[in-house]
Parts: sequence; C-alpha cells; structure tokens
Amino acid sequence: MSLTDGSYAGVSQGFGGETKVTVLIENGKIAQVTVDETNDTEAVSQQTVKKVPEMIVAAQNYAVDIVSGATKSSKGIMDAVKNALEQAGDISELGPQKAAAPASVKTENITDPAASYDKFDQEITKDLVIIGSGISGLSAAVQAGQDDVDAIVIEKLAATGGNGGGVEGQFAINSERQQELGIHITPNEIMTAEHQMGQYRANGSIWLDFINSSADNVSWCKENGVDYSGQVDNYYTGLFNTFHWFNGGHASQGYVPQMTAKAQENGVDFIFNTAAKHLIYQDHKVTGVIAEDQDGKVIKFNAKAVIVATGGIGGNRDLVHKQGWNTDHMLLTGMPSSAGDGYLMTKEVGSKDLIHESAQLVMNYVQAFPTDAPLLYMDPINGIKGFTTGGEVVFVNEEGDRFVNENIYAFNMMLQSMAMKQNKASYAVFTRQMFLDFAAKVGVENGAEVLDHAVKENEGQTLFESETLAGLADSFNLPQENLLATIKHYNELCHQGEDTDFNKDAEVLTALEEGPFYIAQVDQNYLVGIGGIGTNKRFEVIDDEHNAIPGLYATGMDGVMLYKNVYTMNMPGTACGFSVHSGRHAVQNAEKTF
Ligand SMILES: Cc1cc2nc3c(=O)[nH]c(=O)nc-3n(C[C@H](O)[C@H](O)[C@H](O)COP(=O)(O)OP(=O)(O)OC[C@H]3O[C@@H](n4cnc5c(N)ncnc54)[C@H](O)[C@@H]3O)c2cc1C
Repeated sequence: MSLTDGSYAGVSQGFGGETKVTVLIENGKIAQVTVDETNDTEAVSQQTVKKVPEMIVAAQNYAVDIVSGATKSSKGIMDAVKNALEQAGDISELGPQKAAAPASVKTENITDPAASYDKFDQEITKDLVIIGSGISGLSAAVQAGQDDVDAIVIEKLAATGGNGGGVEGQFAINSERQQELGIHITPNEIMTAEHQMGQYRANGSIWLDFINSSADNVSWCKENGVDYSGQVDNYYTGLFNTFHWFNGGHASQGYVPQMTAKAQENGVDFIFNTAAKHLIYQDHKVTGVIAEDQDGKVIKFNAKAVIVATGGIGGNRDLVHKQGWNTDHMLLTGMPSSAGDGYLMTKEVGSKDLIHESAQLVMNYVQAFPTDAPLLYMDPINGIKGFTTGGEVVFVNEEGDRFVNENIYAFNMMLQSMAMKQNKASYAVFTRQMFLDFAAKVGVENGAEVLDHAVKENEGQTLFESETLAGLADSFNLPQENLLATIKHYNELCHQGEDTDFNKDAEVLTALEEGPFYIAQVDQNYLVGIGGIGTNKRFEVIDDEHNAIPGLYATGMDGVMLYKNVYTMNMPGTACGFSVHSGRHAVQNAEKTF
C-alpha cells in the first residue's frame, strides 16, 4: 500500500442517505478516520461512528468487521473510507480477505467437482446462494434480504419448509416472553447440563454464542413476522423451560410462511424443484453451485459465498448406516429430501468429515404395532412417547440380557434408542396387563383389540404372545435359559423395590409374573440426521486442519456442532434455535468478505 500524506474526503451511500468521512494519512498510514455525516438512525450510527473508524485505523484497511446489528451503516462508512483512500494512492492490496489458500489446506487434492459440466442451460450470478429453504435457509434468506445482499435460495422441493414444517418450538433463554413469565435461566446452567450430558465433547464456544444470542434471535424472528403462541415450557422432559411454541403448534404455521414472505418482500429470489448437485471450487475457494431442476435443466449459479442448509443426512440410508446404525428394519420418516446432499457436496471440496460423531433424532417403534397417526412419531402406542419408549417393559438384547434403564425416556426422550445402537437386536418383554394399562393411560380405549390385532397380523414377524416366559425365547431364537434368568432376577428387583442394576424408577418396576406374556422386536424410526460437516463458530466449513474453506458456510442440521453422537435435548428446541441462529449469522459473516 502506498498512500500520500494528507486529508481526504470520502463519500458513500449509507443506510438512510449519504455517509461522509475524512481520512487523515500520516507517514503513509491511516492515522485517523472521522465520520462527518451520516443519516442513519441515531442508535445505530452512535455505535458505528465510533467503532468502525477505530477498527479501520487498527487494521490499516477499509474492510473491517461489521458492527453487529448495524450492517448497512458499517458498510456505508467502509465504502466512504475506501472512496477517500482511492484518492490517496494505490489500495489494490486492501479490501476483504483475499482467497489465498491457507498454508495447510490440501488444495492439491481438490479438483473442481463441477469441472465435468461443460455446458449449462442457464447461468445466474448472485452475491449469495443459499441451498435449502427450511428453518436455517429461511433465516439466512431473511437476513440477506434485510442487509440488501443479492441472494437466491435453491430448494429441491416445490415449497419452503423441509423438516422445519414439523417443528413445534424454538429454544431461547431470557427472551421477552420468558421474562414476562418469570422464567429465569442463566447461560452457565445450560452450559453445565449440556457439557455434562455430552461428555464435554460439544463445542462450548459455539454453544455459548448460541445461548447468548437466543433471546435476540427470537426478537428478530418476531420482528420478521414469526408467530409464537406465547407458551414457553420444557417440552415434556427438558430440564428447563426453553421451548417457545409456534402459534398453531408447528412452524408450518408460525414460521415458514412468514419468513418466506419476508425474504421475498426484501428481494430474495427463490427457485423451486431444483436440487444443488455440486459446489464450484476455483482458485482455492467456493465460487458457486451447479444445480439441476426437475426437468434435468442444468443451472450454474456464480456466487461470492454459498450457504449449505440442506437439513442433514436423515433421508440417506447409507449415511445413516455410516453413523453406526443397523438400518435393516429402520424407518426413515423425516423429509426424504434431506438426504445428505450438503454433506456429500462439501466433502468433495475437502470439508472435515464428522459423520462418525454426528447425532440423530431417532426413536423406538415396533413394526407390528399400529401406525394410525398421520405421522408415526405421533402415534400414542408406537410414537415418540409410545409403549416401547420405556416404562414398565423390560428391554433385552440378542443375548437375552438387560442392557439399560428402560425408563431413561422419562429423563430425556431422545435417549430411548441410544443404548440399542450397540445391539445386534433389541426386544421389549411385557405382560398383557402392562400394555392395557399403558393404552388406557394414553387414551386408547380399545387396547385389547389393538394388541390382539397386532399379534394376529404380526407385521415383520416382530410380536409374539406366549402363556409362559419360556415360550417367548423361541420366537426370536434367544438363549432361553439366560432370558429366564434375566426376568427372574428382574422380578426380584421389582419385589425389593429397587433396581440395583440400572436404577430404573421404582414406580415402573413391575414384575412379569402373570401371563399372557409378549416379546416385541424394537426397531428405530429415524427422523433427522444431525451434523456431519465440520464448521467453526462463524459457520464457515472447515477442512481437516480446521482452516475455513473460503466462500463456504453450513448451517442448521448440516453443520451443527452442538451435539456429538447424541442429540442431547436437555434444553428443548435447540435444533430449531440453532438453525435460526446459524442461518442469520452465517450471512452476516459472509457479508464481511464481499
Ligand atoms: C417432525 C419433526 C419435528 C421436529 N420438531 C422440532 C422442534 O420442535 N424443535 C426443534 O428444535 N427441532 C425440531 N426438529 C428438528 C428440525 O429438523 C430442525 O430444527 C430444523 O428443521 C432444521 O432446519 P434445517 O434448515 O437444518 O433443515 P430443514 O428445515 O429440514 O430444511 C432443509 C431444506 O433443504 C432442502 N434441500 C435438501 N437438499 C437440497 C438440495 N440438494 N438442493 C436444494 N434444497 C435441498 C430440503 O428440501 C429442505 O427444504 C424436528 C424435526 C422433525 C422431522
């Protein structure tokens, strides 16, 4: 940089009109920046008028970090300073960080995944491309629109929402509503519980940023039209009342339509029925996306940054198997469109592969039990709070051994399947009375009929009845002697009123003594595959050496770093809360590089 000493006036178009600055150059360096005029609102300009000049002098560069909440006025000052510096000399070395490959990025191994495409049916150039329009893609789109970023959203399906449509609520602490309700939770309470539950493997700094922004994220959503019901609770088993319910019970009513409309109103384009296939990687950075529409038309999107928000891997059986699950009888009931496209695309450009420790939203089900509810996870017998999630039943593995506190569900419903991941197979053993009592408790009046029908139809050969416990073992070729010993010992624990083996709650310790007896094969219903793409706290996708891959961001369920292996769900609504948080903040971080 070679600048001539002197005082230079610069001008730019700021948030509410022109921004004028004076830049003083002494000894070839930026010595002082004064903001002479800004038409921004007072609250915003007060922050930026002080902070941005200080950062410019410190960095000796007009391109510095945007002041949080003041994107447009920050940019106005930076542009005016740039205008002044251009008069002072050659500033070609200045500007946003150039895309030189960090020393340790293994660029020699990365060939442009899009290189094989030699012709396109359409080419679109934008500053920002957002892949996916679920909770996080919509958050990104609204932030981009609000900041006047020239952005487009690519969506595989015919409408916005994804799995987000089924979301019921969003995490926050210290939101306005919680304060009204007298709910006070401190960040360290959340951090302690989450870190303990996750064996200190989650990224605490990302958690803390998220927790501290959560109330602001809810306010921002409200400003943009999101409709909350006002009910805040612990979603049945959470440790704290962090769950902000959407009006109408689902984001399909409270979040998706409002955020879609807001993004469109602010000039963000949406292109539907179009699936991103590969990222474009040139000059050590991601410069766009190749997508195909439903008619096979190939579209090239050029962009300064790409946000991958494709909702995780849950629709891809191979990737779920790669997580370590036996998928033989697994149902994948999340949106099939969230099929790991983001994970696979980012891997092609060298992203850190975290699929071996990615988490999942998964629950128990029995093939032979009913699937009467509109969605299986809602079924009172076979859903997320159903009969084989825990309670009085006894779980055994392929050896006929107990392996877990069957009532772990009552502590945290997300844990119901985790202990089964390591088994070849898992079974629930129970009596007729246990089933009938449970059915009555959840309001299923014809429990006997439901059970008899399930035994008779026996879908998948997964449910058997016997007058004796010994008779159950034959159904699945379990070692009979060991199964009988397991139940005998369990019954003894029930009589002593304390589960000294697994600490199951005393009120659900019911001995299995009176038949008929039943055994059911417990399989998994998998909704969302959470994570897999390594990211940092700016939601930049990182490589194996933790270097950010320039131009590439991952948000929502694609890049979540909050959970390792287990979706802890101590604090309900964190997946949605994090999706909102990562979407909007990824955009703010990307903007700094434009
Ligand atoms: C039934 C259900 C209920 C849930 N309830 C809650 C809840 O109450 N609270 C909570 O915190 N979490 C909940 N979750 C978790 C929920 O998935 C997340 O909170 C949220 O949806 C994640 O947002 P996302 O943006 O990562 O993904 P999604 O919202 O799933 O959006 C991903 C989008 O990307 C699109 N897409 C995928 N691949 C491509 C491609 N190649 N090109 C273009 N588009 C693509 C998909 O079609 C989809 O529209 C629930 C999940 C399910 C399934």
